Amino acid sequence: MKIKAVRTKLYQWKGPVKTSDTIFATPVSMLPFQADSQAAYRFFSWLVVEVETDTGIVGIGNAGLCPDVTKLIIDSKLKSLLIGENPLNTEHLYEKMYRSSVAFGRKGAVLAAISAIDIALWDIKGLALGVPVFMLLGGRTKTHIETYYSRLYTRDLPSLEAEAAHYKAEGFTGMKMRCGYPLTEGRAGMKKNVEMVKLVRDTVGDDVDIMLEAYMGFNFPYAKEFLKQLEPYNLRWVEELLLPDEIHLFAKLKEYTDTPLSGGEHAYTRFGFHDLIQAGALDIFQFDTNRVGGFTEAQKICTMAQMHGVEIIPHGGQMHNLHVVMSSFASPMAEYFPQTEIEVGNEMFWYIFDGEAIAVDGKLQLNDNKPGMGLTLKTTGLEHFNIIE
Ligand SMILES: [Mg+2]
Repeated sequence: MKIKAVRTKLYQWKGPVKTSDTIFATPVSMLPFQADSQAAYRFFSWLVVEVETDTGIVGIGNAGLCPDVTKLIIDSKLKSLLIGENPLNTEHLYEKMYRSSVAFGRKGAVLAAISAIDIALWDIKGLALGVPVFMLLGGRTKTHIETYYSRLYTRDLPSLEAEAAHYKAEGFTGMKMRCGYPLTEGRAGMKKNVEMVKLVRDTVGDDVDIMLEAYMGFNFPYAKEFLKQLEPYNLRWVEELLLPDEIHLFAKLKEYTDTPLSGGEHAYTRFGFHDLIQAGALDIFQFDTNRVGGFTEAQKICTMAQMHGVEIIPHGGQMHNLHVVMSSFASPMAEYFPQTEIEVGNEMFWYIFDGEAIAVDGKLQLNDNKPGMGLTLKTTGLEHFNIIE
């Protein structure tokens, strides 16, 4: 089998966007003169890559991170490395792409591009062998996948309470909320962030896990005091309190708290996670398979994490992460972005693919008989997209 063509498609959303009450801290929200600190972190496009073989099998990969740049990297740098190669040689092709781009790559958009291709190659492998990708990665380690509901973007307290109560009633036993008040709002903002957590805890009770997303929005002194104030609410984890490269500070924070710390959705490759492990920085790793280096790299990181007692709870739902969760004992659950109107970009994939797993009573199931990733591209309902090939 040989790779015949590599095609990229940039799906740009041109339809309505809900932005009214989505406020949360980001890395730029601590800077002065910010009119809209979330602007750099909303995204309304998604990249799809199709890898076509000479047997007629077409594998599908995707990238949500910086999709316009990711498209350019695949088209101008990676495509030519792949044509004529055997797509089943996933180890070889990962190394070929990684080593060919190492001078300008290793992280960010280049790794998103490599990841998108790697996911497509594993899709081809599954389709060619007639088994789902999770069977190739190690098969079932669980009867179903537990999920946690990931949204609660609002800082309007009645809306927050209503949303938390609704999704508890839907059967979710975990839910992730956001820090509505950035670093620049100081102690008063911290108090309001804690009040939001208290409200959700009072609403859902002690039997539902609450996760708190900080999205790289704070610094060490804030984080240290914040964790102290959050201690009574028994959070399942606090996520990305600091910048992803502040590995040494994450390790230091752990000396001041019993609350588990998570991160890694902006860490890349086995090398990035090796550094996190060596520093003892985090309790939970949240790589996204479509950023970290695809399935080829994700399965290596799962093994490393398992060896060091670190849980793997990938960023985002989506099939490429669910196959990893299903096949790894390191991974107890998956994130679940519900299908909603377009709001911050995390929901875009529901509008592009058919075959994504839908939560029932807060649980997901993968089909043992659906080969490959189990996804196809939607052919209808695309009128709100501008698709650039
Ligand atoms: Mg996150």
